[in-house]
Amino acid sequence: MTETIPLPAAAPNRPRTVAASPATLEAEAVSAWFGDHKVLDRVSLHMPALEVTALIGPSGCGKSTFLRILNRMHELIGSASLAGRVLLDGEDIYDRGRRITRARREIGMVFQKPNPFPAMSLYDNVLAGLKLNGIKAARDGRDDLVEECLTKAGLWREVKDRLRQPGGALSGGQQQRLCIARSLAVRPRVLLMDEPCSALDPTSTRRIEETIADLKEEVTIVIVTHNMQQAARVSDHCAFFLAEQGTPGVVVEHGPTDEMFNSPQDSRTADYVNGRF
Ligand code: ADP
Ligand code: MG
Repeated sequence: MTETIPLPAAAPNRPRTVAASPATLEAEAVSAWFGDHKVLDRVSLHMPALEVTALIGPSGCGKSTFLRILNRMHELIGSASLAGRVLLDGEDIYDRGRRITRARREIGMVFQKPNPFPAMSLYDNVLAGLKLNGIKAARDGRDDLVEECLTKAGLWREVKDRLRQPGGALSGGQQQRLCIARSLAVRPRVLLMDEPCSALDPTSTRRIEETIADLKEEVTIVIVTHNMQQAARVSDHCAFFLAEQGTPGVVVEHGPTDEMFNSPQDSRTADYVNGRF
């Protein structure tokens, strides 16, 4: 369904997009089940506006599930049921009457495996970020939006002379930055990133980290990473998830990243951040 969103007054030539307005995200006692299998137990986490929160922890402890719950993406993959609340600047994104499409538009997602539309041009890939969210791009201002999003994703200079080439022609790292550009087209208030670098080489990883450092000037970021150096480099806050022997995932500890790495309160956090399991 196509929604009509008022044009920002200061930018008459822009396509119809939501004005950027970074928000705080708050999970309150979030529990999740796949059928009878409980995978998250009362996870509460404050993710401040314009900061980067890193979710760390071993595989299978519910980080991806938690991330998808933060923008109602899990409703697409079926069977997870949920208790608790997710507040975007104090408003529950699960409130009855609040549209699922609104949550996805305000809270964007970038996945582990870059997933641009491979046969679609770079230009159209960026604009697809609008279409995927049911927003019609006015013809005027499309070029500006594409340039703006590719610039923010750190890709503009590399691709500005070949915007008609297909997305699939880019390297893996460039494809991931294209996906970031696509997710920025609707000017999300929060950007969720699920291991965005784990399929990439070290140089591409560094470029994405630079992009994250720039983006946090205007969007709240939550990133899942298995790379402790990366968590230390890019994040302001860290949350350590753990699921011990058949129990559901919990947040063992969270706090400012330097405290989590230099003076963790829980011995399991210390072991994890020091690579001992
Ligand atoms: P992480 O991202 O930390 O590796 P996940 O959120 O992917 O963890 O998985 C947490 C738990 O939920 C695991 O036990 C996993 O097997 C289970 N799980 C994840 N997705 C599904 C699904 N679609 N259906 C059933 N179980 C799932
Ligand atoms: Mg995962």
